[in-house]
Amino acid sequence: PGRMEGKVVVLTAAAQGIGRAAAETFVREGANVIASDIQTDKLKELESLGVDCRKLDVMDSDAVNAFAASIPRVDVLFNCAGFVFHGTILDTEEKDWDFSFDLNVKSMYRMCRAILPKMIEQNGGTIVNMSSVASSIKGAPNRCVYGTTKAAVIGLTKAIAADYVSNNIRANCICPGTVDTPSLQGRIQAQPNPGEARKDFLARQKMGRLCTAQEVANLILFLASDESSYITGDACVIDGGWSL
Ligand code: NAD
Repeated sequence: PGRMEGKVVVLTAAAQGIGRAAAETFVREGANVIASDIQTDKLKELESLGVDCRKLDVMDSDAVNAFAASIPRVDVLFNCAGFVFHGTILDTEEKDWDFSFDLNVKSMYRMCRAILPKMIEQNGGTIVNMSSVASSIKGAPNRCVYGTTKAAVIGLTKAIAADYVSNNIRANCICPGTVDTPSLQGRIQAQPNPGEARKDFLARQKMGRLCTAQEVANLILFLASDESSYITGDACVIDGGWSL
């Protein structure tokens, strides 16, 4: 049997990249997967695996509450949605700051707030939030608001872990380095010199290669499953040694 047999797993931002790899991994491990995203066409590709695919904009509080109300039980919540704004503080206008906080942090507040009451009622559940090594762990150049939001995700995760430890609910976050995903490729292509940008990304990888989405999904699976039953409030680094 799979490691997630009979578990209900809810994911945000599951149409591509890490969220998608995580959804596919949970399916392989026997979970009932409810995957959401705003990109419905791409998301729907998961339907052939038996995934329940739902349109959900994590910046829309009413939509988040309606989504949660439609799901009776949630064993695992993986909050994946996030956006990388490039720039120093001087490059970051208030609208960029507010957008990044809304999508990267407030979305997780909304999702956790909507779904935690179910986990309390069930007397159990696991939350995995997407942070980054670019956070309180490492100052990455030109990632001012991104790093600030991902540091906030670590704080939010620890606060939830502390408040609900006696309800048999665990909350952890993951802190990847550079993961090869469609958005990373897009960010490389958007640079004035993509070849140079690719070399720069590789040059900071101590293992000489990028992380794969599957390697991150393996960690998410571990934190979501009972194999990590004594781990809560942790920020798990998966960066091939970048932050060493
Ligand atoms: P991605 O950026 O390729 O895809 C992001 C997904 O989020 C897309 O499918 C998009 O449609 C969805 N999305 C965007 N806005 C949304 C909204 N308002 N509501 C719902 N969904 C929305 O994915 P990725 O690179 O795998 O990144 C996923 C997460 O991992 C992000 O939080 C990112 O910050 C984090 N992360 C990525 C890396 C990396 O190197 N790729 C490293 C560390 C952390």
